[in-house]
Amino acid sequence: MPPVTHSKKYSPSKSSIWTRCALSTLLNQGDESYGDAAIFGTQCHELGQKLIEKALGITNYDEEVKDIEEVKKGLDHYDDDMESIANSYADSVVKLFEFYKSISFEKPLIFIEQHIDTDFDESSGGTLDLGLYSDADGGTIVVEDLKTGRKPVSAKDLERGGPNSQLGIYALYFYESVIKDLYPVKNVRLIIHQPLIGNNNEYSMSLEELLKFKEEILIPAVLKTKVSNLEAKAGAHCEYCVGRHVCRTYHETNQKIGEEISKPIDQFTDEEIEAIIPKLDAFIKYAEDLKEYATKKAQEGHKWKGYKLVPSKVTRKITNEEKVKEILENNGISPLNPGKLLGITEITKKLGKEKFKELISPYVELVESSLILVPESDPRNEAVINKPQEENNHAN
Ligand code: SF4
Repeated sequence: MPPVTHSKKYSPSKSSIWTRCALSTLLNQGDESYGDAAIFGTQCHELGQKLIEKALGITNYDEEVKDIEEVKKGLDHYDDDMESIANSYADSVVKLFEFYKSISFEKPLIFIEQHIDTDFDESSGGTLDLGLYSDADGGTIVVEDLKTGRKPVSAKDLERGGPNSQLGIYALYFYESVIKDLYPVKNVRLIIHQPLIGNNNEYSMSLEELLKFKEEILIPAVLKTKVSNLEAKAGAHCEYCVGRHVCRTYHETNQKIGEEISKPIDQFTDEEIEAIIPKLDAFIKYAEDLKEYATKKAQEGHKWKGYKLVPSKVTRKITNEEKVKEILENNGISPLNPGKLLGITEITKKLGKEKFKELISPYVELVESSLILVPESDPRNEAVINKPQEENNHAN
């Protein structure tokens, strides 16, 4: 199942970009193909949801009732990591619910995978992983977000202070569209649960601070995207902007960093090094992007002068294990170790090079891994690109 589609332009998950750079809303609204990581994440959430519903005895009338094992069978990215992430998330939610149940007058309300509409653009909205309301402490909203990647995420915006904008938007509109007219609220608690890297952190604030986030950060950022000349502001957030390959501001910002560091390293003062360290990750990312772009163009058939594509690694693979097993047995060699066919190096050792060539080679193929760009002088053979050579529009 692909991830649920909301407006990409004002996606809460991209809000750390568009609340800082208005131009990004223009560049981040196009079609985006969903990679394995996004599909894995969506399926972790689906499994987590089912585990929570089962543990808390929640009936989901919107969906067909399925046994957990049946749900897992339908997840084509299911693996041990997904099992452990979904279980850890479900445990954390159940504990959270039990905690608030123990300190509330009324049973807490819980919302899982709840669609949340926002009011700053008709197509904007998102899916809240978990929203909870408790009447404890004069009314408390809790928003928990499951992260399935490896890059650490903080519930607090470490650059400008205040809430992480994605969680802030979820909490704000959970409050405004679901809770506000029914119950009093004083406190807001935002939780990041990222079990893959053991990162659990949270940020607590008053309702006033959440409303201030709306007034001072969110709405001014949205207004900046509704003018004809969209302003570009580069920073660490550019790393996640799909438009960075074509963005002039991104290029110019990195060009300036390149100029700042273009002198022998031992001539830098401590102050200069301290000023440049925070910019280096972004600069390295820029250089990696450029290399990735050049490699991708070469794979599409473009020829870069002085460079060629070669496989990063070539490995040998047995194509017919049953046949190789039979040959080894016929030659008095036990083919398995332990329970698995011997590796190619081991078979060569046992049979001898000549016999290996004669008997086993017909069942061995060379597998090339991904292609990398290297100088023409590299001794490896150039990879054959099947795609047609692009037209050379730069002649003369
Ligand atoms: S690359 Fe950076 S500066 Fe350029 S549009 Fe994206 S976020 Fe803005």
